[in-house]
Amino acid sequence: MLNRVNAPNDLSAFWMPFTSNRQFKQTPRMLVAAKDMHYTTADGRQVMDGTAGLWCVNAGHCRPKIVEAIQHQAAELDYAPAFQMGHPIAFEFANRLVDMAPVGLNHVFFTNSGSESVETALKIALAYQRVKGQGARTRLIGRERGYHGVNFGGISVGGIVGNRKMFGTLLTGVDHLPHTHLPAKNQFTRGEPEHGAELADELERIVTLHDASTIAAVIVEPVSGSTGVLIPPKGYLQKLRQICDKHGILLIFDEVITGFGRLGTPFATDYFGVKPDIMITAKGVTNGVIPMGAVFVTSEIHDAFMTGPEHMIEFAHGYTYSGNPIACAAGLATLETYKEEGLLERGPEIAGYWEDALHSLKGEPHVIDIRNIGLVGAIELEPIAGEPTKRAFSAFLKAFERGALIRTTGDIIALSPPLIISKTQIDELIDHVREVLRAID
Ligand code: PMP
Repeated sequence: MLNRVNAPNDLSAFWMPFTSNRQFKQTPRMLVAAKDMHYTTADGRQVMDGTAGLWCVNAGHCRPKIVEAIQHQAAELDYAPAFQMGHPIAFEFANRLVDMAPVGLNHVFFTNSGSESVETALKIALAYQRVKGQGARTRLIGRERGYHGVNFGGISVGGIVGNRKMFGTLLTGVDHLPHTHLPAKNQFTRGEPEHGAELADELERIVTLHDASTIAAVIVEPVSGSTGVLIPPKGYLQKLRQICDKHGILLIFDEVITGFGRLGTPFATDYFGVKPDIMITAKGVTNGVIPMGAVFVTSEIHDAFMTGPEHMIEFAHGYTYSGNPIACAAGLATLETYKEEGLLERGPEIAGYWEDALHSLKGEPHVIDIRNIGLVGAIELEPIAGEPTKRAFSAFLKAFERGALIRTTGDIIALSPPLIISKTQIDELIDHVREVLRAID
């Protein structure tokens, strides 16, 4: 029996992710084209992309070099497996990624998304401990308000109740560090907050509770993005690194958002001068154009897997599309675009301007905090009593009507424009937000 035939404009078949489907389908917001800093809506309006899609389109939209690379690769070698077979472009892309990665992160495992990169990193960490004869190290430590994608490992180490509570038992043996958001002490901070490095000492408490010999890895986002741009206090990441080193615990940075220039440096690892053992990336690795993720590991971790019997598969993990040729072509063209335009190092030139523009919103209606780092910013709004999220969501709707795409999480507006944004466009984006704040209740 066939399903009923839907009219082309029937919106019911697509169950949209992380969307209020019922609300959206009454008043849909459709994007039909994009170029550089702007989307075009179905009714022909230009909307400035204040969020680089979902924190991913770092070089802006429909960049010709990336489009051509995808078209060429699709015609040349569309798909080839990477299980017991190879294709040159995946090796070439891995080499280019390692060339630009923080020193010591010398090997790359390809996935198709941030969530898959997270699962891959957690599995590498657990398997590494086993390979090293430390099989009792099975515990994982995440952090409150951490977002690590939506698969079971990721929601277990993640710290967002709303993303966990519908799904029953998650991974066991998981602890969480406290989040680092201290609004009373660090309100309206520019860049890294002064207060809160001591929150890293909670790791010592967890180690004392369980014993270091049971703990495999700690996973954090260097800057938490999805839960409202929570920037680590000065010295916090350094402390985490020291405590991990002291106890033989692996440190994993989830750089799905912070990777590829978001902080004004290639990676957050470069920004903070703290090196993880495993670095998770996705999004900007292909400018968001083709789904892809890349997990970077140290030689020590990689090489530990290479010492078993030669005929064995060293790591029982991988995806049909790991190292997909078209994704690799998009990735290579993305890296070239970043390089030619200096996009991964725009920090010194643009971050100060961005910071001043963002903080000019202090004093506007509803604003209770503003935070920024690199080309990321958050504007926290006073919640309406009993209706958290409502005020920011109405700001989102109003901004879209006015011609700017912003993102909201709870009562926080998060901004992360493409790294190609000009100073004039920064002014324009911030003016949209200013007008919206003045217009909402
Ligand atoms: N980790 C972090 C830090 C993220 O921000 C995201 C996505 N926003 C993910 C993981 C998951 O990525 P994806 O949606 O590609 O699975």
